[in-house]
Amino acid sequence: MEAPILPDSQQRRVPILRDVAALRAALAGWRARGETIALTPTMGALHAGHVSLVALAKAKADRAIMSIFVNPAQFAANEDFGWYPRTFDADVELFSAAGGDAIFAPPVEEMYPQGFATALQVGGPAAASLEDRFRPTHFSGVATVVAKLLNQCQPDVAIFGEKDFQQLRVIARIASDLDFEAKIIGAPTVREKDGLALSSRNVYLTSEERKAAPALYAALVCCASALRGGAAMEQAVAAARASVEAAGFTVDYIEARHAETLAPVASTAEGPVRLLAAAKLGRTRLIDNIAV
Ligand code: AMP
Repeated sequence: MEAPILPDSQQRRVPILRDVAALRAALAGWRARGETIALTPTMGALHAGHVSLVALAKAKADRAIMSIFVNPAQFAANEDFGWYPRTFDADVELFSAAGGDAIFAPPVEEMYPQGFATALQVGGPAAASLEDRFRPTHFSGVATVVAKLLNQCQPDVAIFGEKDFQQLRVIARIASDLDFEAKIIGAPTVREKDGLALSSRNVYLTSEERKAAPALYAALVCCASALRGGAAMEQAVAAARASVEAAGFTVDYIEARHAETLAPVASTAEGPVRLLAAAKLGRTRLIDNIAV
């Protein structure tokens, strides 16, 4: 009997794998054909930033697999785990249209079954006094889930956004420290036309806050250009903080750091330098960063 003709959107719908056994079976089929695999871990609520990671995944490997898992271990009790946006059906459509090959979307019990008792303790870039100062349990949760995903998938490459710059450095560190074979690849931040970095959390912004939000990136751009022009670091960073505060943000941090180690730097001569920032607009916390 001939296969039924499906509408385009359904024809392109990728397989959705719910457990590690199904994931490993799919991966084994690809590997048997000599195909390479790229993993893109996400928490879903996909936007054009995530789609750009899939495009990079497809450029780096034969098969692109995306994990969609809102990881409870990386949220503190006072954070947004309960209301983090979940848009699974739209995510499947976007990922399929981007040319992805399969989605791994396990339930929480698959990742953390009864009796689960392990967490990675992370130092170095995870203890740089940036995000970790405000979210002290966050990177242990990220590291643990990413280590699990890398073990489950054993990908040739794993793609992470520079949007979460400290996270990218933490993951590169654990992959190296724990001898994961996957090559960790960073991808540039995708932005709205006005400069705001795309984020699943941008939906939390009120329309007034959305108007003010690009000031964070604008301040980083201005600061980076002043530093490139020879401005003193302390003054340039203080000016960036003042302009972000003037736009209505409460600043958690704006810092110039060494782009590899995330150690503090006093001048661009100690570089490469990265500016990293986190600030709240109302109840929405935005993070961003930029190369100097
Ligand atoms: P998440 O949004 O936390 O699910 O992140 C999943 C992956 O997408 C992470 O590697 C992020 O760094 C990356 N990502 C998030 N936003 C962007 C963006 N605007 N541009 C590029 N990558 C992004």
